[in-house]
Amino acid sequence: MPDGTSHFQAGIPILDPSTATNLNYTRTVQPLDAAAISWYNSPMARRTVFETYCPKTILNKHKRPDHWFWIRYTAYPYKGCQHRCLFCYCRERKYCPFDDVNDFGYTIQVKENAPQLLRRALSRVPVDLLGTGDYQPAERKYGLSRRMLEISLELGFPVSVLERSPLVLRDLDLLQAIKDKATAVVMFSIIHTPDSPHLERLTEMEGLAPRPEKRFAAMEQLARAGILTGTCMMPVLPQLCDNEANLQSVVQWTADHGGQFVMAGDLTLADQQRDFFFGVLEERFPDLLDHYRRLYPPGSYGPASSNWRQTALRLHELCHQHGISDRLPRPIIPGDKRALNKRVVEALANQVYMMELNGAPNHRLWAYRKAAWAIEDTPQDLGLIHRQMGRKGLQSIENVGPRLAEVVEGLIQALAPPPSHQGTPSQR
Ligand code: SF4
Repeated sequence: MPDGTSHFQAGIPILDPSTATNLNYTRTVQPLDAAAISWYNSPMARRTVFETYCPKTILNKHKRPDHWFWIRYTAYPYKGCQHRCLFCYCRERKYCPFDDVNDFGYTIQVKENAPQLLRRALSRVPVDLLGTGDYQPAERKYGLSRRMLEISLELGFPVSVLERSPLVLRDLDLLQAIKDKATAVVMFSIIHTPDSPHLERLTEMEGLAPRPEKRFAAMEQLARAGILTGTCMMPVLPQLCDNEANLQSVVQWTADHGGQFVMAGDLTLADQQRDFFFGVLEERFPDLLDHYRRLYPPGSYGPASSNWRQTALRLHELCHQHGISDRLPRPIIPGDKRALNKRVVEALANQVYMMELNGAPNHRLWAYRKAAWAIEDTPQDLGLIHRQMGRKGLQSIENVGPRLAEVVEGLIQALAPPPSHQGTPSQR
């Protein structure tokens, strides 16, 4: 999956848009990739072309971490993806660097100077979670993801990797070292399992991505190494992924392979990516066409109507039954002085998610979100504020009124370390 993304809309991964256009490309034509004979270019197979260039920037920065992936920065070494998933949102005009959307899986732009740019950029920003790593086949040739992990380790930055390839295991040594020094999470994009009812169609939808059983095997190794790992079930394709058997099997396989969460999001379709995907349906899955046309009328982005809430609530239930979460546990650097603030923000974000699924009114959702942002921005330890000033102290934080102060106080009491050395929180 974005195997190069950050994530700043509900359930919608967004590719790092950092690039430069000032490029002197070096084109390298690889030997014919027989497996790359794809429907949209059949009957002729195409060669994968690698274009190396030196962008001016690599790091995409955000004011604060998002409430899904908890990522503050993103930096990725390649544009285009050899996995060629047919639904890939990276074909959207704002992310796709090619004039012809069909080039997306066949032309890979390689940011040759990515490691150097990353070193320079990270040395100028506060330490926070970095979304990085792209393990498509190009990585075997260029090794840029590994070099970027080396820099993250050297500078003490925690990393978050989202992948469809088990090649990420090649860098297990580095990921372990980063986990020990800062923290690391490796998520696998998985939307089905070998037990799924629509296995054949979903395999076709995922293009040349390695089979899900390989991703689960990699998940198990990462879990054994003590690295936080789990499933990012995005996109949940209507009529193919949202059935009970598939949801059950994804949760079961994740739990059985040491994954700690299954986080799901629905399909988005925009501009040329939408046209491309409807072309796929027309040619390969014509029986699905009407349903998708109804769900995604012209001008829509997410589905106009769907049983998404019902699907997400069922997933929540299934995760609970298997002792895992339907949300990514927030990666926090050990010893972080603001760990309690971050845990409280995470808990508020999780409450917002559940409120959304249960149809809570927008003004309530926004009240929680704004309070979470304000707490994220609060430099002082929330526990200290509460110990010194009680609930009134919490109310002094922007966007935390009396009702939310009570909620936050409850969270502090539930999440703070044992109070033996702290005295009893007062409720002044
Ligand atoms: S083609 Fe597939 S693996 Fe590659 S970025 Fe898109 S969704 Fe991820």
